Amino acid sequence: MRRDLTAVMWWIIGLGTVGTVATLFLPTRTDILVLGATLAAAGVCIHAIRHTGVDRTVLHWYLLLGGCFTAAGIVSTVTGGGWTGVQQALGLAGAGCLVGALQRLLRIRHPHAVTGLLGDSVIVGMGGWIVAWIALVGPLIRRPGASPWDGVLASVAQPLGLVALLLVVLLLLTERVRRPVEALLCGAVIAGLVANFLGALVDAGRVTMEVGHICAALHVGGITLFTAALCHPSVVTLTVLQPSRATPRAFGRLIVTTIALAVPLVVLAASEPANMSDRIVRSTSACILAGAVMLRVLQSLHAARAAQDELLRTAQTDPLTGLPNRSLLLARLEESLLDSWYGTKRPTLYFVDLDRFKNINDSLGHVVGDHVLRTIAQRLVQACPERAMVARLSGDEYVVLDPEGGQDEIAVTLADRLIEVFREPLALAEGDVFVTASLGIATVSANTRTTAEDLLRHADTAMYRAKDAGRNCVAFYDDSMHERVAHRLALETALYRALDRRELRLYHQPILDIESGDVIGFEALMRWLQRDGTLVSPAEFIPIAEDTGNIVPIGSWALLEALTQLREWIDSGVCSPTATMSVNVSPRQLADDKFPSIVSEALQRSGVDPQLLWLEITESVMISEPQLALSTLQKMTELGVRVALDDFGTGYSSLSLLQRFPLQRIKIDRAFVQGVADRSSDRSLVRTIVAMGTSLGLDLVAEGVETVQQLQVLRDLGCHKAQGYLISHPVPADAMRSTVVALERLGHSPTLRDSLLSR
Ligand code: C2E
Ligand code: MG
Ligand code: MG
Repeated sequence: MRRDLTAVMWWIIGLGTVGTVATLFLPTRTDILVLGATLAAAGVCIHAIRHTGVDRTVLHWYLLLGGCFTAAGIVSTVTGGGWTGVQQALGLAGAGCLVGALQRLLRIRHPHAVTGLLGDSVIVGMGGWIVAWIALVGPLIRRPGASPWDGVLASVAQPLGLVALLLVVLLLLTERVRRPVEALLCGAVIAGLVANFLGALVDAGRVTMEVGHICAALHVGGITLFTAALCHPSVVTLTVLQPSRATPRAFGRLIVTTIALAVPLVVLAASEPANMSDRIVRSTSACILAGAVMLRVLQSLHAARAAQDELLRTAQTDPLTGLPNRSLLLARLEESLLDSWYGTKRPTLYFVDLDRFKNINDSLGHVVGDHVLRTIAQRLVQACPERAMVARLSGDEYVVLDPEGGQDEIAVTLADRLIEVFREPLALAEGDVFVTASLGIATVSANTRTTAEDLLRHADTAMYRAKDAGRNCVAFYDDSMHERVAHRLALETALYRALDRRELRLYHQPILDIESGDVIGFEALMRWLQRDGTLVSPAEFIPIAEDTGNIVPIGSWALLEALTQLREWIDSGVCSPTATMSVNVSPRQLADDKFPSIVSEALQRSGVDPQLLWLEITESVMISEPQLALSTLQKMTELGVRVALDDFGTGYSSLSLLQRFPLQRIKIDRAFVQGVADRSSDRSLVRTIVAMGTSLGLDLVAEGVETVQQLQVLRDLGCHKAQGYLISHPVPADAMRSTVVALERLGHSPTLRDSLLSR
């Protein structure tokens, strides 16, 4: 289709060139040739209206323009060059149609710039009128025997032509992207305007040469270019909205309007008024021009102001929800804090963070995620009183600012209303979805100076507190929270250097076979011995390392260290060659795609058989990232490494999880082992776990065995492996030889039970 159009265009250009040349050299047949060209152009225009997506109004203006020219041609042909007044009137109407089409074109392509463009057109038109008056219209009217009608026509035609010229110049010269269709159209309009101007010069008696055939040739050439433009494939881009960066350049317009101002002024200054009426027309026109310039300047200032306001608004608004963004929130907060100094107001911030929003994005896609964020934004706005401001900070974080705050009850009421927002499900195309949020509240304290940043940080801290407390709840900020945060930050920073400073150690806890009394393996447990001698528990620093991602290098170090240790113990006879090493692995490590290679490298470097390594994972990883966990664990199984489910029973483990994941061991959590001797409920739970584990063919280890009674009950229930303080506390590596020796001495005496009881 595109190729067909291009071929037609070249045919038209070829025929048009022949027509133009013929018009130049056959001065007697010019009317017929112009008429023919006009009719052909009208045909193409009708085709374009039907088949290209070009705006119909633009094409209708062009058709009208063609109609005017055709009528003028017919009049000229029929009257043999007579009725020039009618012909000129039709030409003038054509020029009007041209201006109509061009202004419509600009209105579609640059809707924001159109007011300025029309303002410029008025200035150019006025400038054109002054020049036309002095150079053409005045002399025409003053010519003896001239009809006033000619003067009116000339005085309108030339300014109109100049306005059309301005619009064309804007279209051609000031667009950033220029396409063939625009160039062809501009060529067409310029050819027509030059033809008209030449005609006007002749009418005003400024040119005495016979130029009728040149004008006609210019018309035929212009019509040819116009027709070719409508056949060029790029015509489909003619009436589409241009990207905002492609709005006509201000500089180009400035040059055109400056010329439109300067030329009339020079002409006014250089020529003397012929009589009183000439003087009046000149001075009135100059005044109108000055007025038009003033209006244009005012309009420009107004537009600049509006653009500035719009810029400021977009800089301070979140594009997705239309809510104020962080910078506007901080500005408003700063204002309210200043006000609060001399009043009873207590600006309060409510930090709302959606729980597990990532899951929605990951499972339902970002479009749904955006919809959820917008809906929640609307609901929050509805839930807040008029005085409050709801802002979106980033991602799934919103902040509500109550600039007045006041009593604690007010804060509680508003917090309730905000939490209420999340009670109702969100109706999505995929079905109803419940989204929960954690809410942190912070308010200014009565005596200390709080900055906006401080208050925002406090609300953020409180929100994290709410998350730690199990999400979907509210937490108020207090100063102790600040201390905890400061302590945590200090740990976080020190932990980054702990590995390099060799402050991390591995302690090991033996795992015992209850029946044989043999040490069948060890669990490696990390310790952080700080320089000042403080021993930090892994329960405290492992979650921090998890959050910061630092667990990845630390965990890799622990893996290699533990395996190297096992190798050394086996080689030096501390334990049997079949003793295993259990290493705890955190979710963040499992999510790391380099994890499988880290494990195989550690096995290779330590020379330990993969069968001797147990990786201990917790249930959380199988729930939050099931696919990722499954694929990583499958790779582990391929390597020959076995996987144990740690702290079994404390989380949400379900039977299906146990079946789906390649697990070989479950470790019964200390919480159940502790009550196994005394509480029947715990005993039945452990019995169920053992039965289930055995039927699934899983190995069972009881954690946290502290008393002989617990050990006995476990053995009776069918759990044959145990670890705990009863057997041994976690000990440093160099204390393991004596620990194992002591344990085996105990285990190999007549019965373990007697030995233990006799301790
Ligand atoms: P876990 O893997 O469940 O380790 C067992 C925890 O119970 C250890 O605490 C151990 O000292 C303690 N424990 C052992 N027997 C008894 C007992 O009879 N009674 C009582 N009350 N506790 C006992 P620890 O060493 O403080 O480690 C805590 C947790 O930190 C571990 O729980 C594990 O989840 C994590 N962790 C420790 N080392 C590492 C590591 O190298 N990497 C990762 N990712 N996590 C680790
Ligand atoms: Mg463990
Ligand atoms: Mg455990």
